[in-house]
Parts: sequence; C-alpha cells; structure tokens
Amino acid sequence: MSVHGKNAVVTGSTSGIGLGIAQTLAGQGANVMLNGFGDDAQIAALRKTIERTGVTVGYSDADLRDADAARGLIDDAAATLGGVDILVNNAGIQHTDPVEQFPARAWDDIIALNLSAAFHTTAAALPHMRKAKWGRIINIASVHGLVASVNKAGYIAAKHGLVGLSKVVALETVKEPITCNAVCPGWVRTPLVEQQLKDRAKASGKSVEEEARLLLSEKQPSEEFVTPEQIGEMVLFLCSDTAKQITGSAYTMDGGWTAQ
Ligand code: NAD
Repeated sequence: MSVHGKNAVVTGSTSGIGLGIAQTLAGQGANVMLNGFGDDAQIAALRKTIERTGVTVGYSDADLRDADAARGLIDDAAATLGGVDILVNNAGIQHTDPVEQFPARAWDDIIALNLSAAFHTTAAALPHMRKAKWGRIINIASVHGLVASVNKAGYIAAKHGLVGLSKVVALETVKEPITCNAVCPGWVRTPLVEQQLKDRAKASGKSVEEEARLLLSEKQPSEEFVTPEQIGEMVLFLCSDTAKQITGSAYTMDGGWTAQ
C-alpha cells in the first residue's frame, strides 16, 4: 500500500519538519493540503515546486489556535483534495521561561496550537477516514512528549498531552483500518530551533554554531541533528501496510536522547 492518490493534510507545513513531511508524501504521489504562515510569494513558490510532482496542492493560512479554524482546515482540505486520508498534526510553537515567569498568553497559545488543534482536526478528519475506510493520523510530538527539560512548561505539557491523545484515538479506532501514532523527534535544525540557538548565543556571547554543538552535546548523544526528511520517511512508513498494526505508539527519532 503506497500513499499514491491519498489526500494528506499536514499542519504547519510552510517550514521545517512539516514542509519535509509534505514534500516526502507528495514525492510518493499523495495530494497535500499545506498550512501555516509565511511570505506569500515564498508559499506560492513552494506550492509550485510541489505541484511539479504531479499532485494536487492546496494551501490554507488557518490559524490553528482557533478551534473553528482547525476544524475548518479539514473541511477546506476535503473540498480541495476530495477527502482526507492522512492527517499529520505538526504545527507547533515554543516559548522558554521558568514557570513563575511563563506568560499566561504563551501558555494558552502553546496549548491551543500544540495540543487542542490536534484534537479538533482529528475530530473533524475521522468521519472522512471512516467514509474512505482507511486513515492515518500522525502527531508530531517530541522527545518532550516523553521527558522534560527546564523552562518549557507549556511545550512539555502540550506534547505529553499529544502523546496521550494519540493513544486514546488509537484505541477508539482500533477495530477500523485507521491508525494513530505519535513521532517524537529530538533536535531538528529548523527555524524553531534556530531561534533558540540565536537566543543562547546572545546570552552566552558564543557563536550560533558553537551553541548548536553545545545544544546537541547536552541532550542528543549522536551529536547530529535529525532531519525533516528523516521524519518524512518515518511518516511514510507509518502510512504503509507494514505499519498497519502499529497504533498508539510514540516513536522516538532522537539520536539516543531518551535512552539515557
Ligand atoms: P517551524 O517553526 O519551522 O515550523 C512551524 C510551522 O507551524 C510553520 O509552518 C508555521 O507557519 C506553522 N505555524 C505556527 N503557528 C501556527 C498557527 N497558529 N497556525 C497554523 N500554523 C502555524 O518548526 P519545526 O521545528 O518544523 O516544528 C514542527 C513541529 O515539530 C512542532 O510541533 C515542533 O514542536 C515539533 N518538533 C520540533 C523539533 C525541533 O527540534 N525542531 C523537535 C521535536 C518536535
């Protein structure tokens, strides 16, 4: 079973990991609904590049912190692509501060996007998957869905929640040809991490590259970044027939981070 001709929604796919996943799925013949923010011209160019693989590409700038917008993205994708067979909940943001200084607004935004949006898109996508008698839901969580680090209260609470949500959805669909899993990457060098590197470099006076080396050596024993393409291949595997009995799992791709 390949993803050829399947219809996929990848949230937060104008950049980083989501873009890597969308490109991998489209490269195997899946139609994709892109979502996220960014420069209009750059997004139009991205769409064109992906369309060259011969698939249908939709785009929505829905702000998924809003419940109706998250559910609306699925309706929009179903209308544009003709169905929703694969849902990759990937959009996510970060904020770092100790708990007592963590702004309430940052907490609310992180929970809304990194956790609640996946609940809303899943609820809206399941009827389409049941109609098609096939479905794959893949939640891009994080090592921070399994273990904690300091100063990331909102992110870690949301990612632990996302791993829990994946298990519930897996059990509720377990007798159907639908699976739901979480992927838990370690460090991936995307704009989200680049910002953390810049903040660290500013605070320490070291170079961004030195901070990248230190970041890896603190947590990720392989001392190599995971790539968006590798995560795309993992998503492809979870969509395959081989992975049909894999549901409710949380797959780490973390260079040994959580083995310690
Ligand atoms: P990124 O910043 O490169 O991309 C985030 C994407 O989400 C962008 O397309 C952005 O436009 C979109 N987005 C932001 N706010 C949105 C909103 N309100 N509504 C809709 N879309 C919105 O980040 P990334 O590193 O590629 O992260 C993608 C996912 O992977 C996140 O859930 C993140 O937590 C997770 N993750 C990242 C790493 C890492 O090291 N980069 C590690 C583990 C997990």
